[in-house]
Amino acid sequence: MYAGEGRENARGYREEAFLSLGAPLEHAVFMRQVHGSHIEQVGTGDGGRGAVAVETALAETDGLVSDASGIALLTQVADCAPVILMDGEAGAFGVLHSGWRGTAKRIAVKGVDIMRSSFGSRAKDISVWIGPAACGKCFEVGEDVFASFEKNDLDAGLLNREGKYFLDVRAIVAGQLKRSGVPEKNIAVSAHCTMEEGNRFFSYRREGECAGRMAVGVWKA
Ligand SMILES: [Zn+2]
Repeated sequence: MYAGEGRENARGYREEAFLSLGAPLEHAVFMRQVHGSHIEQVGTGDGGRGAVAVETALAETDGLVSDASGIALLTQVADCAPVILMDGEAGAFGVLHSGWRGTAKRIAVKGVDIMRSSFGSRAKDISVWIGPAACGKCFEVGEDVFASFEKNDLDAGLLNREGKYFLDVRAIVAGQLKRSGVPEKNIAVSAHCTMEEGNRFFSYRREGECAGRMAVGVWKA
């Protein structure tokens, strides 16, 4: 899906993508993401927010959770990691936007916590998918970036190669989730890199401000 230069186009692409998945766009819930760690619980009445007019999307929100059937929770990403949480036991699910800032703020752990408190989820029942993102070979960062992480978190994802630092955001997210009780076997990590695979993905680092965004979503039938 595309949301960069042409907002008019974005609607067409979104409708097409949703039709091909058999889910109507009116049931999608979008966020106005700010690289924060605020997560909102949404329900059936939120279906359609941000689907057509960006103004109606959930403001200053980088994560959504729900246990409602028939709504789709969406995040839009380019290089940042999309994270999907699913708990078949509690019937709950969520989507998170986890770039380096959200990852430093431990948004994935907050996602698990809110599923626990809102839906009675147990970490051991939660399955996670961490989608295509900038990989640890490509995502070069400065000291200012990794200084904002807790040391524990960096162990899994800060790589020093020839005096340059690279961050593997997905490895950090996976490590955080494991330490919060999600079994390793329940965590699937995409091998795709948005910075390397230009024919397949949009990349903010590669294409700049006008890069498109991929929408990644989850819903309960
Ligand atoms: Zn890469």
